[in-house]
Order: sequence, then C-alpha cells, then structure tokens
Amino acid sequence: MRQPAVIGILCDGLRPDFVREACMPRLTALGGEGVRFLSHRSVFPTSTRVCTASLVTGVYPRTHGLAGNVVFARALARPRAISTRDHRALIAWERALGGRLLGRRTFFQILGESCVILNAVSPGSAYIWNARKSAALLNPALHWPSGFRARAESACGAIPAAASPDLERCAYMLDLAADYVLPKMKPRALIIHLSEPDSLQHAIGVDGPLHRKTLRGLDRLIGIFLDRLNGTGTGQANVLVMSDHGMSSVCGMVDLEGEIRAAARCLNLDSPSSGN
Ligand SMILES: [Zn+2]
Repeated sequence: MRQPAVIGILCDGLRPDFVREACMPRLTALGGEGVRFLSHRSVFPTSTRVCTASLVTGVYPRTHGLAGNVVFARALARPRAISTRDHRALIAWERALGGRLLGRRTFFQILGESCVILNAVSPGSAYIWNARKSAALLNPALHWPSGFRARAESACGAIPAAASPDLERCAYMLDLAADYVLPKMKPRALIIHLSEPDSLQHAIGVDGPLHRKTLRGLDRLIGIFLDRLNGTGTGQANVLVMSDHGMSSVCGMVDLEGEIRAAARCLNLDSPSSGN
C-alpha cells in the first residue's frame, strides 16, 4: 500500500487544555511521542467555517475572504446575509463571485491528486474544504464524486444519524477511513473532520460529566484508529491531530439590537428598523 503523506484528524472545537491525561490519554501520549504546536492559535473570528477556509488555504480571513459563519454576500444579485453552513448558499455566492469562493488556492488544489475529505460537520464546512472539487468528499448531506457515498455505504453501512454527543458519526468516519478509504482509495492526503467536542459543547457548554465522558470517548475512537493504522502498514503516515478553535461556556447573552434601540430612544434617533 502506498503511504498517505498526511492524515489530518480535525476535532472540531477541541481546546488544547482538554488534551490531558485524565480526559484524553491517547492524544496526550501521541503529543508526547511527536510534536505539539504550543504556539498554534486560531484565526479571528474563531468560527468553524472561517477556520476551515484558513486551514485549507493557509491564509488569514482577510485574504481568503470568508470572514464569518454568517456573511453579507454583496456579490449576489439580491445582496443579503447568508449562512455559510448552507452549501447551496455558498454555491450561489461562488457563482456570483465568478466561480471563486476563496481568495487563494486550497491545499487540495495544490496537491492536485488523490485526496479524500471525510466530514461529519455541516455541509457548508464540507463545501469550503472542497470548493473546487479537487478531492473526494463525503459529508452526510454532500458528497463528491457522485458514486462516493454509495461505495462508502456499501463498504461500511449507512452513515449514522446525527446525535448528541455525535460519537457514532465520528466512529463511522474513522472506521470508513481505516476500512475503505486508506486501503482502497490510497489517498495522498486524508482529512477527517469530526464533529465532537464542538457539537456537544453547543448543547451543554464546556465541562461537566458528559463533556468529560465525550472527550474520553473521542480519545478512545482516535486511539482505535491509530492502532489500526499501525496494524495495517500505514503506521508511518504523518498524522496531524488538529482543532479549529476552542469554546467557552456562555453565562449570559446581550440583546445587542435591544441595546441599540434603547440607546436610539435615549438620543431621540430613529429606530434602526426605520432603515436610518
Ligand atoms: Zn469548529
């Protein structure tokens, strides 16, 4: 089997301080055996799709141009705010931009051969990873090329439904990589973008028994995957475990629009809803 040059495992929303012996012993050990990028920082704003665009292009948001999980798409015939979670909105915006969603070539365009992306996050995130269709891509709502999902599900069964925590889908993507993608497709680069711990953190915040249990479960799944790599002759691959951003528990919300309206009333200004 030809060795993949790179296997990147992206744990969405994994904060560096979670990678410690008590919660994530396998990742802690992996870091001890290899290299830890202690000065690594997320880009700003620290949102998943913004970070995905930076990870796949290697540049900051001001250069790749995707500056938020919600952006104002001025190039559209009817300019409006779009959610970058929605790949159909991204496709429409990309067309309006003349066929170029990101302001730089992607990692996969540069490699130009035999790359695979397994993505358990949003279809928008999956589309950003593979905007120019330079790699094979599988996401629960989106895949490329057309027969990829059928072949994957024939080999490994149906993609599980989303859940909270979403460890079953994480396990599926890691099993698919080990059972089908690496031995059959022999990619030069493989990215596995996992939905945890981000998915659970959005639901319950950071810390607590279920959060720690999910971190341990995710660590165990990655450990099983690493053991399988070692057992199938792909143990010499360059394995990068990455995160796109951290997360903090929210203890209060500011009603920004309400504050602006109140301030406008105090100053005897027109309401923002009047369009002024
Ligand atoms: Zn994220």
